[in-house]
Amino acid sequence: NYFGNNKGSQEYRRLKRNIRDIDSRKKSERHLKYLAYHDKLTTLGNRDRLVESLDQLLTEIERQTDRKGALLFLDLDGFKKVNDSLGHEMGDTILKECAKRLMNCLRKNDQVYRIQVEDIFRLGGDEFTILLPYIKRIEDAAIVAMRIISRILEPFNIDGYGSLTHINLGVSIGIVMIPQDGRDRTTLLRNADTAMYKAKELGNNYVFFTNEMNNMAVERLMMEESLRKSLGTENFSVYYQPILNVEREILGVEALIRWSDNKGGMIPPEKFISIAEDTGLILPIGRWVLETSCRHLKIWQNNGFDHLHLAVNISARQLEQGDLGNVIREVVNKVGVDTANLKLELTETCVMNNPESAIDKMNDITRSNAGIKIAIDDFGTGYSSFGYLSRFPVSDLKIDKSFVTNLSRETNTKIVNSIITLGESLGLTVVAEGIETEEHFTYLKEKNCKLFQGFLFSKPVSFEDMTKLLKVGKL
Ligand code: C2E
Ligand code: MG
Ligand code: MG
Repeated sequence: NYFGNNKGSQEYRRLKRNIRDIDSRKKSERHLKYLAYHDKLTTLGNRDRLVESLDQLLTEIERQTDRKGALLFLDLDGFKKVNDSLGHEMGDTILKECAKRLMNCLRKNDQVYRIQVEDIFRLGGDEFTILLPYIKRIEDAAIVAMRIISRILEPFNIDGYGSLTHINLGVSIGIVMIPQDGRDRTTLLRNADTAMYKAKELGNNYVFFTNEMNNMAVERLMMEESLRKSLGTENFSVYYQPILNVEREILGVEALIRWSDNKGGMIPPEKFISIAEDTGLILPIGRWVLETSCRHLKIWQNNGFDHLHLAVNISARQLEQGDLGNVIREVVNKVGVDTANLKLELTETCVMNNPESAIDKMNDITRSNAGIKIAIDDFGTGYSSFGYLSRFPVSDLKIDKSFVTNLSRETNTKIVNSIITLGESLGLTVVAEGIETEEHFTYLKEKNCKLFQGFLFSKPVSFEDMTKLLKVGKL
């Protein structure tokens, strides 16, 4: 022994201190590395860790030609609602529980493939990723996905919310096979994300990535790009469809956006509104529609149509994010029209997505814009409860056009009848849109519907053509 009996010597003590220092430095380095690579909340790996593991797997796969792997991209269904309504603390608790379930359901079962906890990552929010570094058959990835879905579907117990003792969540999973669906990290993550979005459309499902999806994703990207470029150009215009009373007199118009790409084709709103929503472009676009249609309304009013109403569609994102009450007041003041002539159309799905918050937003809008009206659009497709409906500060219910255009079907007749009754009992004006035949118009009139809209009277037309229709007055 080098130190022999000299343990008490200065040199020994210094050396010992150094070793201790090195030890604790190593420990804290390890700790730092741990922190850098792990998600604080769930202790799962984080995005950086995923990147590293994925790159390592890709290098290995390059050398071993028959080796296969898979990447699962998970997004919880319904988590946002929980977070918004029960608070972030409860949201965190649920995320931790999800992480635990993922670890358990993946580790225990060795039949398919033994996954280490190190192969599960949280990418932030309610997004998780699972890396399967060894896969024999494609089906194995599906088996893992199915197991995850059924685990997450089990109710989550919660405390402290009175009679609300548990909540239900779902999960959507996109799957990419490695290297079949991509040989680099960026491609794989992007494709997994694309497949996940497909799964989301189905809800509580898993979907394998395919190349057709990629083409669609590319198309979406191109559309996003040309939407962006169209802002502030002639490619956008606003069309109008008249809204009539029982006498077929025009009381108002609904503003409907039109978009033509540079190839000269018209792209229907149903195709691009959702893209504009996803990218946030709906905010400037929506403001533009509001301002343009208010300007047109002003011109019509100056020409003697003082009582004309303007209905403008508002998307979910506009209601959620924009400071909508202020935006409207600003536009209205700038253009010089009266808010009492303005009606906002919010779809039933949009307001029912988070009813409490929607009520706050709607109240905020009506407070800062005296006399403004709100209509629930596409009514009958969502899941409104009587309780919520009576609390919404709305004046109109617009029956979804799918029920009206196919009114001859028995179930649709029943739905239309009950919406009219519901509207009456709540003191709301019921509007029928999508009227294509005299027969349907007669029926709806008899049922005591108050306002009417549809191709029978007029298709949506340009500002100039609408001006002509207004001069005719009765359609
Ligand atoms: P919406 O608000 O329910 O508008 C009514 C849609 O029904 C319009 O389609 C209109 O052309 C169509 N329609 C009217 N009468 C009839 C009929 O008799 N038969 C049939 N089959 N269809 C009829 P459009 O213009 O293609 O708009 C589709 C949807 O796009 C709108 O549904 C609305 O949700 C959305 N949208 C349109 N413009 C805007 C906008 O400026 N902002 C936002 N956020 N959404 C908009
Ligand atoms: Mg509408
Ligand atoms: Mg509608």
